Amino acid sequence: KITNHLPTAELQALDAAHHMHPFTSDGALAKRGVRVITGAKGVWLNDSEGHRIIDGMAGLWCVNVGYGRHELAQAAARQMEELSYYNTFFMTTHVPAIALAAKLAELAPGDLNHVFFASSGSEANDTNIRLVRRYWDVKGQPGKRTIIARRNGYHGSTMGGGSLGGMAPIHATGGIIDGIVHIGQPHWWAEGGEMTPEEFGLARAQELEAKILELGVENVAAFIGEPIQGAGGVIVPPSTYWPEIQRICDKYGILLIVDEVITGFGRTGNWFGSQTMGIKPHIMTIAKGLSSGYQPIGGSIVCDEIAHVVGNADDDFNHGYTYSGHPVAAAVALENLRIIEEEKIVDHVRDVAHPYLAERWHALADHPMVGDTKLVGLMGSLQLTPNKEKRAKFAAKPGTVGLKTRERCFKNNLVMRHVYDRMIISPPLVITTAEIDELIARAKLSLDEAYKIVKD
Ligand code: PLP
Repeated sequence: KITNHLPTAELQALDAAHHMHPFTSDGALAKRGVRVITGAKGVWLNDSEGHRIIDGMAGLWCVNVGYGRHELAQAAARQMEELSYYNTFFMTTHVPAIALAAKLAELAPGDLNHVFFASSGSEANDTNIRLVRRYWDVKGQPGKRTIIARRNGYHGSTMGGGSLGGMAPIHATGGIIDGIVHIGQPHWWAEGGEMTPEEFGLARAQELEAKILELGVENVAAFIGEPIQGAGGVIVPPSTYWPEIQRICDKYGILLIVDEVITGFGRTGNWFGSQTMGIKPHIMTIAKGLSSGYQPIGGSIVCDEIAHVVGNADDDFNHGYTYSGHPVAAAVALENLRIIEEEKIVDHVRDVAHPYLAERWHALADHPMVGDTKLVGLMGSLQLTPNKEKRAKFAAKPGTVGLKTRERCFKNNLVMRHVYDRMIISPPLVITTAEIDELIARAKLSLDEAYKIVKD
């Protein structure tokens, strides 16, 4: 029997033999030795070797209320006993889906009052592709099919989500679907040249207008973006960027989809990143923090206009998933939202992020290898560079120094991710100031060790 009690090497060998990992070359993984996680509580992970690891990434940006919450286990068990599954297709519904949709309508800003459920962020973005195209079809403008997205954005890894995303390695893995085009990202450090961040933010937003005019407004359905690009490297756009995007979408009547899969449910110090960045979307993509990762659930929160047009058409909206609104996932998500509200976790994010974490995070810019530092709420990034003034790149292949730094972090029992040579954090939102001190100390030590290796 395979249990936690087997020796690590045996578990690693079985894993290498039978388990294909996402976004990983399994041969390389087997050589490096995969770490076996056996349990977790709060912000702390345990591994099979007895280490206690600070999870600076909240899993994959999702464990907002921290690990090991008894209430969430209870909510799942109760719901499984009562109604373990039923679908929401055709003419049936159930209380967990009703209650969660109503709660999300209450929390979401503006007239985002309608929820279409999925089991992940990727699936929810696939829903969005169909939703916006269906909307324009019903409105009698079937030509409006193209969706404009951004290079280095991330919207998932289904064929739809991966196509909306602007990541070349994903596009190279099986191609992309038609009717999606990409414009530049607002990443000033890497691409801003001699412009000020504000000039660059404006210029990058105006690429949207140029693209709409090039394609013809009669062919454009929607624009999609993350309020703050997460998987692209926690790239916080210059302050000029989102107001200009909003102006352009409003001017041309282009639907605005904001992907809140990472930024939703408190991560940026508000319920949604749209509120932090002052954006008014027609559709929000949600997942991850919706259930704090305790159950796979995602969805699209949709404004009145789109929901009414699509919902009142003569023909059905022919789209959905077996697990859309899964009762157990919905019950867990509801309980998770109750915890976030009752424990005032969104306020806690604001309290610990500014100034406590912000002071310590930005002080890492004193390190010889750290250039740009960014932090919004509890998502942050550090740009590694051999020369801060010149915003230079390392001579080694992009990502080499980032990977070395991540490996040092891992050795020092801190999970921090790297995106090429940018280090990122997104810890559970319940992190305390004492745990922040520990995270910063381990990050500093790892940067010092990586710098020594890079220098020598
Ligand atoms: N959208 C964003 C912004 C994400 O960061 C992610 C995942 O990291 C997704 C969508 C895809 O979500 P999932 O992995 O649940 O399909």
